[in-house]
Amino acid sequence: KFRDEMTYLDMGSQEDEEGSNSSVTVAVRVRPFSQRELADKTVRRVVSMCGNETTVTCDNGAVHRFAYDFSFWSFDSENGDFAGQELVHGRLAQPLLSRAFEGYNTCLFAYGQTGSGKSYSIMGQTNEVGIIPRFCEDLFFRAQAVRDINQVKISVEISFFEIYNEKIHDLLGSSKEKSGKKPTLKVREHPVLGPYVEGLSTFVVNSFEDVEGWITLGNKNRATAATGMNDKSSRSHSVFTIVLAQTKTEMWEGHEHDHSITSKINLVDLAGSERQSQAMTSGERLREGANINKSLLTLGKVISLLSEQSAQNGKKKKTYIPYRDSVLTWLLKESLGGNSKTTMIATISPANSHIEETLSTLRYPF
Ligand code: ADP
Ligand code: MG
Repeated sequence: KFRDEMTYLDMGSQEDEEGSNSSVTVAVRVRPFSQRELADKTVRRVVSMCGNETTVTCDNGAVHRFAYDFSFWSFDSENGDFAGQELVHGRLAQPLLSRAFEGYNTCLFAYGQTGSGKSYSIMGQTNEVGIIPRFCEDLFFRAQAVRDINQVKISVEISFFEIYNEKIHDLLGSSKEKSGKKPTLKVREHPVLGPYVEGLSTFVVNSFEDVEGWITLGNKNRATAATGMNDKSSRSHSVFTIVLAQTKTEMWEGHEHDHSITSKINLVDLAGSERQSQAMTSGERLREGANINKSLLTLGKVISLLSEQSAQNGKKKKTYIPYRDSVLTWLLKESLGGNSKTTMIATISPANSHIEETLSTLRYPF
């Protein structure tokens, strides 16, 4: 694959020239119609995009306009440029990679109703790979250049887990309890390093090929867990974490000194944002629905509080951020607050049949 190396290496110094120091970027991506929708004469397109603006037109003529940092279009014709996997990755994830090499922690979330393209965007499929594999491939490409040019030692460690019903399951661990059930892992909080998953498998990876193996295993484990559980994957969050450590050895007064920076990158495929159906009224299922809503709600609250905080940057008013209200936000605390960069991709359906969920997705979290 051809790359313009200079352009690529220069990206790290490409500051937010528009003066925006906002740490939250929000994008919208509309998926194309499915075959079934194309065959259905009652299905109409209600979403259009123009520049950064996304417009939803209701049956009664009401028009809702949303302006975000990016609007990604899926149709060849009319009012937009087609945004494929490479373009979306280039606009959203590559800047995060640059941030990571500068030492920032970063998060990228896909948010939207089930079937709207979260997994397609984050993981993708064969021949149309998404952000996780592209990000990892770029990371090693970039790491090689940094090694060669700056004499920096680089180590990369990954982990992959899911949060289902506020419980954490390792997607890369091989251990199973006697019952055959996957063990549930707990969050612990280190006084200096912050929250972490106790006992989670982490792997050092030295090449993109190494990572690919783990991605395949994680996807397989996620799919296995989903079968027979009423599409569990639509009700769980999956979190792919990369820890990038850069170490430079410098000579100072005849001695070697190591100087390290570590950054964490979290690529998150969130649970479906749709309201739980009325049929789910009792016991486990109800609790599950409540947990999902609560963790998406908490995430929305945390992100909007953080972006409010950064908007009023000069004034150092301390806002309380309720990280610990959900396992997801608690674990991502160090990657959401402080000097970190967050990107949210809201995925939506183009169809009239999903208009309510589309509007609620577009209103989240602000
Ligand atoms: P989710 O993870 O939000 O439940 P998926 O990512 O599984 O949804 O997407 C549902 C279906 O739509 C999949 O078959 C996927 O390939 C397709 N799809 C979603 N977004 C796009 C897109 N931008 N371009 C092409 N196909 C897409
Ligand atoms: Mg999915």
